[in-house]
Amino acid sequence: MMRSDESAVLAAVPQRLFIGGAWRDGGEGATFAVEDPATGEAIAHVADATPADALAALGAAHETFASWRTSAPRERSDILRRAYDLVVERSDALALLMTLEMGKALSESRAEVAYAASFLRWYSEEAVRIDGRYSSNESGGGRILTMKQPVGPCVFITPWNFPLAMGARKIAPAIAAGCTMVVKPARLTPLSTLMLAKIFEEAGLPGGVLNVITPASSGSVMEPVIKDPRTRKLSFTGSTEVGRSLMAQASEQILRVSMELGGNAPFLVFEDAGLEAALDGAMIAKMRNVGEACTSANRFHVAAAVAEDFAQGLAARMSSLKIGRGVDPDVEVGPLIDADQLDKVAELVDDAVTKGATVLTGGERVDGPGHFYKPTVLTDIPEDARLLREEIFGPVAPVKAFSSEQEAVAAANATEFGLVSYLYTSDLQRAWRVTELLETGMVGLNQGMVSNAGAPFGGVKHSGTGREGGPEGIEEYLEIKYVAMNI
Ligand code: NAP
Repeated sequence: MMRSDESAVLAAVPQRLFIGGAWRDGGEGATFAVEDPATGEAIAHVADATPADALAALGAAHETFASWRTSAPRERSDILRRAYDLVVERSDALALLMTLEMGKALSESRAEVAYAASFLRWYSEEAVRIDGRYSSNESGGGRILTMKQPVGPCVFITPWNFPLAMGARKIAPAIAAGCTMVVKPARLTPLSTLMLAKIFEEAGLPGGVLNVITPASSGSVMEPVIKDPRTRKLSFTGSTEVGRSLMAQASEQILRVSMELGGNAPFLVFEDAGLEAALDGAMIAKMRNVGEACTSANRFHVAAAVAEDFAQGLAARMSSLKIGRGVDPDVEVGPLIDADQLDKVAELVDDAVTKGATVLTGGERVDGPGHFYKPTVLTDIPEDARLLREEIFGPVAPVKAFSSEQEAVAAANATEFGLVSYLYTSDLQRAWRVTELLETGMVGLNQGMVSNAGAPFGGVKHSGTGREGGPEGIEEYLEIKYVAMNI
C-alpha cells in the first residue's frame, strides 16, 4: 500500500505536457500509465503527446529562441542558480519520486538528485563566461575575431536509468548558452523531468525555453520533430541501436548531434592494486544504479595472481546487500526497471552458465512481485559468453583472469563500445601506460566512479560522440562565428 508521503510527491507532479509555458493535455486527450517497478502498480497517468503536440512544442521553442538568444547571460545564470536552490531544497521529495518511478534505493536517488543539481550550479557559473578570441592574421593587415552564439532550438531525448540527471546535464548548458529546447523523457520515467520543468517555471524561466512532451510512442512522434528545419541540434542519451537510427534522421537537416550511448566498461585489477581498494571501487562501478548505468563495470579483468581472492571478496560483498523496494530504509538493491530488462539479465547469465561459467553468488531472480535479480558474481567465463560483449545493465559481475598487461589491455579494448574503463594499480608508470592505451572516452584511475559536473563525460567508438559536463559541455550548444576584419 502506498504511504502518505509517496502519495503527496506523486500528487505534486504535473502529469501534462509543458508547451510554451503552459501545462496542457495531449491533443487527443489520451494518457499512459507510469508504473512502480517494485510492485508493477500504476502510480501516475501522464499525457500522451501526439505528433502535433511535439511540433507545437518545437514551434514554441523556435518562437522563443528569437528573444531568448539575446537574453542577458546574468539572467540565465540567475535562473539556473534559483533552479539549483529549489532542487536542493526539495531533494528529499525528488528522490522519493525518482525511486517510485525508477526503483533504485532512496540513497541512490538522493545521490542522483545531487548530481543533477550540480549541473544546474556548474552551468549557472558558465553562463557568464562565454567568450571568443581576437588575433592578427598572418599578414598583419587583418584581424581574426570569433564569437560564440547559441546553436538554436534543441531536441533532447533521455533514458529511464537516470531520470533527472540525464536531462539536467543537457538542459543546464543549453539554457546557459541561450538555446531553447524540447525534452522527451523516457516513457518509463517521465515524472522527474516534469517536476524539473515545474521547478524551472518557479525559478522564472520564460515560457517556451523549456518544453516537455511525453509521448507513449517515441518513434512516430519524434521523427517529424528531428527532421523539421526549425530544429538545429539533437542530443540523445540511450542505447546505441536507437542512437544510430536517430543520427540517420538527424542527417536530413545536418543537425549538430551529441550521442551518449551504450557502454561495456572493463574494470582492470592488477596484482599491485590493493585488494580492498579494488573491491571498494568494484562495488561502486558495478552496483551503482543496480548496474543499470552506461558506466557500469560490465566485466572484471583481474590479474591471475589475485583473481580468486578478488572474486571471492566481491561475492561476499554482493551477497550481503539488502534487496527490496527502494523506498524502504536500508534497502541497497532495488528492482530492475521492467520485465524485459529482467529477462535480458537472466538470459545473459544463463548463456554464460550454459557455456561453462561458475556462479559464486546469485545467478537467479528473486521470487515475488517486482523485477528483482540477485547480485551475481560469475567466474570461469568462457570466451564466447555474450555478457563479455553485450551491455548487461544489471547486478551481474563476470570475473576473468589475465596473465599479462598486454593481455589485459587487449581484453579491455575487445569491444565496439568505448565509454569508460576502470583501472586499479599502484604502479604509476603502468597506470599511465595502460590509461593511454585504453580506447574509452573516460578512465577511472583507482576510482570506481567518473561522473562529475566539472568533467567532460562521453565516449568514443559506438559509445557516442560529444561531451556533457565541464567547460566542454556548453560548447555543444554554441556555434562559432568567425569575423574577418580588415583594419
Ligand atoms: P533507449 O531504448 O535507447 O531509449 C532512450 C530514449 O530514446 C527513451 O526516451 C526512448 O523513449 C527513446 N526512443 C526509443 N526509440 C526511439 C525512437 N525510435 N525515436 C525517438 N526516441 C526513441 O535506451 P534506454 O533503455 O532507455 O536506456 C538505456 C541505454 O542508455 C543503455 O544502452 C545505456 O548505456 C544508455 N545510456 C547512456 C548514457 C551515456 O551517457 N552514455 C547514460 C545513460 C544511459 P521510450 O522510453 O518511449 O522508449
